[in-house]
Amino acid sequence: MRSERLDGRAWNFSAGPSALADAVLERARDELTNWHGRGLAVMEMSHRSEEFVGIANRAERDLRELMGIPDEYAVLFLQGGATLQFAMAPLNLLRGNDAADYFRTGLWSEKAVAEARRLCRVNLAVDTKGDGYRSIPAPSEWRLDPGAAFVHYTSNETIHGVQFRDVPECGDRPLVCDMSSDILSRPVDVSRFAIIYAGAQKNIGPAGIAVVIVRRDLIGGAAADIPSMLDYAIHEKADSMFNTPPTLAWYFAGLTFEWLKGEGGVSALSERNARKAKLLYDAIDASDFYANPVAPADRSQMNVPFTLADASLESRFLSEAEAAGLLNLAGHRAVGGMRASIYNAMPLEGVQALVDFMKDFERQNG
Ligand SMILES: *Cc1c(COP(=O)(O)O)cnc(C)c1O
Repeated sequence: MRSERLDGRAWNFSAGPSALADAVLERARDELTNWHGRGLAVMEMSHRSEEFVGIANRAERDLRELMGIPDEYAVLFLQGGATLQFAMAPLNLLRGNDAADYFRTGLWSEKAVAEARRLCRVNLAVDTKGDGYRSIPAPSEWRLDPGAAFVHYTSNETIHGVQFRDVPECGDRPLVCDMSSDILSRPVDVSRFAIIYAGAQKNIGPAGIAVVIVRRDLIGGAAADIPSMLDYAIHEKADSMFNTPPTLAWYFAGLTFEWLKGEGGVSALSERNARKAKLLYDAIDASDFYANPVAPADRSQMNVPFTLADASLESRFLSEAEAAGLLNLAGHRAVGGMRASIYNAMPLEGVQALVDFMKDFERQNG
């Protein structure tokens, strides 16, 4: 797929649903009414048709290749977003144990904790809520419970802009990761994990589908009285087609995976993402007009929150940015300020346009 700018497209810094690559949208547009000459659209196909099963299998194959997912792991494409995984992961992993370890490092892990508390006792091995979620403590400060059934963390806190640099070392307890907002942004060693899950609408495709990568030997331990839709074993057995899957979202995910392969895969994207983030953080740090509250070592390469020294200029900043073709820079309603989400689909050129705008705005208002 080519990577050229489509006419009339602004730079979209939305946290999610977020920007898709132009090449993906262009391909979907070209195939919209008549997929590969079959005379119908993808969303008009039976999910059991040879055509759609081919699309689904290819998406899984490409994701496995991009992330280096070993055969011992199942890849499921499920509905209910990352939020349903807040419940499904404990329901499938607790196996009679009633305790789990959680890292509470931002608003998304806070939500995961709240959901887990409906199902088990939660030990907060790490909790930075009191500090406003601005850093990740050193491993020497973690309080892991040796009896916990699993350890859950959020690799990238989309709202607070805090990201784990490395996979936390938690012994041999099953490690569960909400990777919704940084999956495919950098290489990860999948074999370190029991479960990786991610809602698609940050770094994969449109909303409506979630990717769940789960070690096969951990499947099958859910209690028999939970609804079938919550049991990984049911979905694995049915190749994620226990009921009608979100076919269009699955197709788009596949187009993104193909595009990523064409761009050089995860390691190429990882280098590009590092350059993008450095450009933006350097601009913020070089100025007294802008600030980012996160400890430099724990800053997210995907979501960059920032504030203006004079908060009364925020609405002007946002409206002038929009007029300059820079969209969706308002921070999450829980934290305010600004936030630039710079996922895989955002090229360096878009971040450069933002940095140029920020410098201009400072010159005029600083
Ligand atoms: C967006 C997000 C979620 C919620 O995803 P849904 O698909 O809306 O359920 C969960 N975790 C993280 C880290 C997110 O960024």
